[in-house]
Amino acid sequence: MIPQSFEYSAPQTLEEALTLIESGERKILAGGMSLIPLMKFRLAQPDEVVDLGRIPGLNTIEESNGVVHIGAMATHHAVESSPVIRARCPLLAETASHIGDVQVRNMGTMGGSIAHADPAADYPASLLALEARIRLASARGSRVVAATDFFQDAFMTALEPGELVVEIEVPVEESTEGSRYEKVAHPASGFAVVGVAARIRKSGERITMARTAVTGMASREFRAAAAEALLEGGGSIAEAAALVGQGEQANSDLYATPDYRLHLARVHAARALATAVSRAS
Ligand code: FAD
Repeated sequence: MIPQSFEYSAPQTLEEALTLIESGERKILAGGMSLIPLMKFRLAQPDEVVDLGRIPGLNTIEESNGVVHIGAMATHHAVESSPVIRARCPLLAETASHIGDVQVRNMGTMGGSIAHADPAADYPASLLALEARIRLASARGSRVVAATDFFQDAFMTALEPGELVVEIEVPVEESTEGSRYEKVAHPASGFAVVGVAARIRKSGERITMARTAVTGMASREFRAAAAEALLEGGGSIAEAAALVGQGEQANSDLYATPDYRLHLARVHAARALATAVSRAS
């Protein structure tokens, strides 16, 4: 329960942090909610920990040109309570409100959560449904990766050595859209046994755009493309929900078998879609 000894540095600028992580066995520290337990169990044994907490401006949340820019160090509480996110990307604020407990939401950060890429984390489903992008930076420069390409598998992302997440870019939800995040939380850990994000746009009673994505069910989060297409083609929510998870390999553990997880994903997809439809005006 005691980590291996390590050096600690707290750079004051992003440039300094990028230079530090360019080489060697260094780990970035954000909220520490996942990294510190891993170090205590000695599953992570970095020579040096680089704390991003003293870098100004890495936790800002602002909107420009129809995109909400969320700094990697914004906490889950900041995402949940930000007036900009609540007004412009309500799906994300709702998702953040489901993460862990108050202590975890006060310490944990959005950048840390997505970099960690736990397959039962909450944000990935909503980021896929919102078609978000992730801005990465290294000493070599910066690049933007679509959320669909960023999340690669359980605990695996598009981050290259020496790179860190600096910002999450989320296109705003149109004011006429409806959205919903539904979650079955594991009773012990609070993580998602299954989490479903849904977004709907309508013209009259016709669904013109449907986005739905699932976390927790499989080793990586996924968009339910067949369900989306069926809804956009005039199919019912029940028919669409029955297609969610088709072709995916569901996880199995002591709490939920693959069949049960698939069942939960479909039941909660139907609920999330029905609420999103009712919220779309
Ligand atoms: P850290 O723990 O500091 O870092 C995590 C990993 O990401 C490390 O490998 C670190 O090097 C790397 N990293 C951090 N920031 C960056 C960056 N900017 N760029 C590149 N790499 C970076 N999550 C959920 O989604 N849903 C839940 O219900 C939930 N419940 C939880 C319950 C408990 C009791 C706990 C302890 C955690 C829970 N979490 C849950 C996880 C929580 O959301 C963490 O905050 C999150 O996984 C990690 O964020 P962090 O800021 O604490 O990152």
